[in-house]
Amino acid sequence: MKIVQIPLLRDNYGYLIICQKTNKAAIVDPSEAEPVSRRVEQEKVSLTAILNTHHHRDHTGGNEGLLAKQSLEVYGHKSDQGRIPGLTRGVDEAEEIVIGEERGKVLFIPGHTTGHVAYLFGNNLFCGDTLFTAGCGRLFEGTAQQMHASLKKLMTLPDDTKVYCGHEYTESNLRFAITLEPKNHKLVSRFERIQGLRARGQSTVPSTMEEEKQTNPFLRWDSKEIQTNLKASLPDLRPDPVSVFATVRKLKDAF
Ligand SMILES: [Zn+2]
Ligand SMILES: [Zn+2]
Repeated sequence: MKIVQIPLLRDNYGYLIICQKTNKAAIVDPSEAEPVSRRVEQEKVSLTAILNTHHHRDHTGGNEGLLAKQSLEVYGHKSDQGRIPGLTRGVDEAEEIVIGEERGKVLFIPGHTTGHVAYLFGNNLFCGDTLFTAGCGRLFEGTAQQMHASLKKLMTLPDDTKVYCGHEYTESNLRFAITLEPKNHKLVSRFERIQGLRARGQSTVPSTMEEEKQTNPFLRWDSKEIQTNLKASLPDLRPDPVSVFATVRKLKDAF
């Protein structure tokens, strides 16, 4: 399997998932059609499917343009019928997706929106706007409890799982993370490394689940340092995971 990252719009990423045995490919979250079509031609693959993680326009804006040229299966959560343009395959937790001879599976992870899914192919996780590298998506439609449960589900994936998220946000996410956990050495060194990559205009995605568990403040509700720092300004904060997560999310919204 080959994965091709395609920068789209201002800071979105689409991903071509290519089955190298059959040359069939799927595009995850085509924000726009033209750059995707160009890349499909360059790679000399045959596009068979669109995999949308959620209905937001910056993840589905290219659906109609791609469908105008050819017929494609369009996958998304079944509850997003009517919100994802051209949806043909409404899916749910644990459903299998087949691209050529590659097999992936759907994870239902609501919170950012009520119909958000991730696609897992081997150890490659395409998680849209739920888990970001060093961050997580805003709670537009779901509750903190839902998002916490979704992130917890993703954390059960193996450490070497590659995290392919929907946006290039790592640097600003880490700038926020450092304010909560300045003594986390792995976080500090990640921030330095990422600043170097961005200074050279390079992508910082994918990361690994291990890196996220070690440095992403939205997965670190058990961190004593984060809890202590939050309590300094919010003495009534309860230390349960959902309350810590919800507080970190609120602080990031205002950061
Ligand atoms: Zn979104
Ligand atoms: Zn987005």
